[in-house]
Amino acid sequence: MNKTRIPMGDLRRQNTPLRAEIDAAIAAVLDSGWYVLGREVAAFEQEFASYCGVSHCIGVASGAEALFLALAALEIGAGDEVITVANACMYQVSAILQAGARPVLVDIDPATSNLDPRALEAAITPRTKALMPVHLYGRLADMPAICAIAARHGIPVIEDAAQAHGAWAHDAESQPRRAGAWGTLACFSFYPSKNLGALGDGGALVTNDAALAERLRRLRMYGWNEKYCTVEAGGRNSRLDEIQAAVLRVKLRGLEAGNAARQVRAALYRELLNDLPIALPADEPGHAYHLFVIGANSRDALRQHLSTAGIGSDVHYPFPAHLQPAYAQLGYKPGALPITEHLAGQILSLPMFPELTHSEIEQVAAAVRAGVRQ
Ligand SMILES: *Cc1c(COP(=O)(O)O)cnc(C)c1O
Repeated sequence: MNKTRIPMGDLRRQNTPLRAEIDAAIAAVLDSGWYVLGREVAAFEQEFASYCGVSHCIGVASGAEALFLALAALEIGAGDEVITVANACMYQVSAILQAGARPVLVDIDPATSNLDPRALEAAITPRTKALMPVHLYGRLADMPAICAIAARHGIPVIEDAAQAHGAWAHDAESQPRRAGAWGTLACFSFYPSKNLGALGDGGALVTNDAALAERLRRLRMYGWNEKYCTVEAGGRNSRLDEIQAAVLRVKLRGLEAGNAARQVRAALYRELLNDLPIALPADEPGHAYHLFVIGANSRDALRQHLSTAGIGSDVHYPFPAHLQPAYAQLGYKPGALPITEHLAGQILSLPMFPELTHSEIEQVAAAVRAGVRQ
């Protein structure tokens, strides 16, 4: 195999230009002598809540932890059902099972790869205790429809916004509303390659519910309401480090520009690829393009062609949750989620990051063209 000339992502290109700012931020934490849940975390929480357009943010250890803590804060457990999708890498199913509840998986809208609100409504039972849509690839799920269903049934919504920092859609009043500002709770990951990435693991929950926010602050720290006084049985250690929060404050200042750069790159890809027999992501102004995902009939051959041409690509994600060996206990059979299963064989993620150059996109597009035609 040739060396990869154009990678799926390149975090050095993003972080190296910020070297002086990041060094200063880390040095300030080092000199402060305070390394867990301090000034930097508090400041970042305030800045990120304000960015999302919500009142509260709670920094935690990772996106996966945020999903679990959301369920814990809503007291979801044995006997409860949580409805989610099967095409978003199992993070949701894993959190729901950890909480002791049952994941109920529904199919997706083929046009967006996001949860299909009609399938969602059909899956609601008296045991449904939360809805967990995912804003996959950086595109908001159909939140007006999902929130309307949730309100009608009195069920909380937990957004998995781990791929959608800064993504937005219009609400019922035609106002733009960002990921995180729709659900009862929303979960973010700051894994280094996300649209807002730390230099290690990190995550957060956001909410407008003050009581849930307080409970989450206890749950992330052993269930304490004050030092050594445990008031929540389900507490754990799930804290955001001061160093990561300090780095995230630097990175947050560049999030809007980064998302805008991703949109420019997506537009160029669309322009260069639109005459090919492949599916392209629809052009939406609020799409944050965490990933640029096309659909192709001979996906594996195309991927091989790209690899030979030195171009990175990936599949997000090849195996739907309901067909994973570990989740056979859930009782789903092949064919249970036809659209999810069909798209799993078609999707291909092309290189997409804010620092990707015009020339690189042209090279990727030329290789895709040659690969589709071969
Ligand atoms: C990355 C991701 C997560 C998990 O976040 P971590 O910080 O890696 O634990 C959850 N959900 C989605 C959709 C993700 O992309």
